[in-house]
Amino acid sequence: MEFVILSRKIIPASLESFSLSTPRYRIDELPSLYPQPFQKSFPFSLELHAFLTGRLLKRRELPFPLPLIQQHYEHGFLQYEPAIAIKNDGRPVCKRCGNEKAHLFATIECFHCKRDCTYCRSCIKLGRITACEPLVRWTGPEWQYPLYDDPLSWTGTLSPGQKHASDLAVEAVRQQTKLLIWAVCGSGKTEVVFAPIAEALKKGGRVLLATPRTDVVKELFPRLKKAFPVAKITALYGGSEEVFHPAQLVLATTHQVLRFKQAFDLVIIDEVDAFPYTMDKRLQFAVEEARRAESPLLSLTATPSKQLLSTSPSLVKIPLRYHGFPLPVPTFSWCGNWRKRLRKNKLPPKLIQWLTERQPLKTPVFVFVPSIKILNEVGRLLLKENIPCETVHGEDATRHEKIERFRKGENSLLVTTTILERGVTIPNVEVAVLGAEDTVFSESALVQIAGRVGRSASSPSGEVVFFHYGKSDQMVKARRHIQKMNEEGKRFGLLSIM
Ligand SMILES: [Zn+2]
Ligand SMILES: [Zn+2]
Repeated sequence: MEFVILSRKIIPASLESFSLSTPRYRIDELPSLYPQPFQKSFPFSLELHAFLTGRLLKRRELPFPLPLIQQHYEHGFLQYEPAIAIKNDGRPVCKRCGNEKAHLFATIECFHCKRDCTYCRSCIKLGRITACEPLVRWTGPEWQYPLYDDPLSWTGTLSPGQKHASDLAVEAVRQQTKLLIWAVCGSGKTEVVFAPIAEALKKGGRVLLATPRTDVVKELFPRLKKAFPVAKITALYGGSEEVFHPAQLVLATTHQVLRFKQAFDLVIIDEVDAFPYTMDKRLQFAVEEARRAESPLLSLTATPSKQLLSTSPSLVKIPLRYHGFPLPVPTFSWCGNWRKRLRKNKLPPKLIQWLTERQPLKTPVFVFVPSIKILNEVGRLLLKENIPCETVHGEDATRHEKIERFRKGENSLLVTTTILERGVTIPNVEVAVLGAEDTVFSESALVQIAGRVGRSASSPSGEVVFFHYGKSDQMVKARRHIQKMNEEGKRFGLLSIM
């Protein structure tokens, strides 16, 4: 797309017939972007407003004719901007994802501008963004969301720990501050954010709940719809349908957050410690861009990193599970050189014994292993020992079916890599980790794994065993982490009855 400049205005060259001698510019070559004065009386398009509100999109992502878009620009209702800006030191920066790393830009012979054109490799998953492409931003009036007296129709009861955290979160929304909520696995953190969400919606605010995993988006969507039946809610994840109305409550995977700019009056990030959020500066950029500068930010985690704790201005802990029982403390079981055994087609006898004890009771059991290669070996050897099982890993196309079968009790032993460390709740489950000393099992991964056990009030306990060949620092830290939370939980529990 090329522009010509005419009386301090930019006009897409394809819109009118300009003489061949009129200079044409790509968006990134214009001497100025020539913003136009806002003309209040302009009868703007509600559909375009709805589509663009709080977003920064490529021209080609807008399902509207160019003349209509241009009219909105000419009346000050929107602005064209380059997708890749050049900083003062001459280096490129991607306006969509914030990438500034030289090696994450590349050059192609561009189909659109017929020249060599820079594009951003960092956010290519959302569709290629090139230097010649204008991004479009709404600059007209803000979208007005309805105000509600009481948008929350959830009538459940919060545990004392949940209530305490929820009250502080509501206060953070009122005061427009940041709050880190450190909630042990199984404390029921979703219910904790209901009241703060309601607080923001009441005032006509727009709310984003971002989480790293598609599974969680899908799981939370019906729960939030039920809790907030009056508000428009949308769920965005890779492969979800594009939604045209500006939903007031947006549930999105962290990648999808990149499409929003200054859009939200409250941002909640679930599992703030989890991959890929902490791994990826780009997503932190995304969250900062998606919220308005003054918006409150709530972060939820069960296993905060040191860095997160040191950078969070205020913190509230929920040290107790919602049912009030302590977290199961892992036991360590030395099982010799298990890798060497596997090479000899044998499993550690201690693991076999532990699993065999559980077989007659049909206790559901997760066995976590460090890698897919080990997963396959362990699966094969268990069957050889007449211990029925299934194996599942992150790239397994049938993983949802396998987890469903496990949930229904059709299979009571699931061997898995770390994909199941978060989110999956199975009543009565017990957990073994084979090779807990392996470096893939960090303190937080092990805490999350142990957190799978005893989540339901009807079976609040259960065993967690770390089978190892020499215990690691991370194992010791994970156990201390859990014991410390239990001590705090005890104190908190006593306090809340007093
Ligand atoms: Zn980018
Ligand atoms: Zn181009």
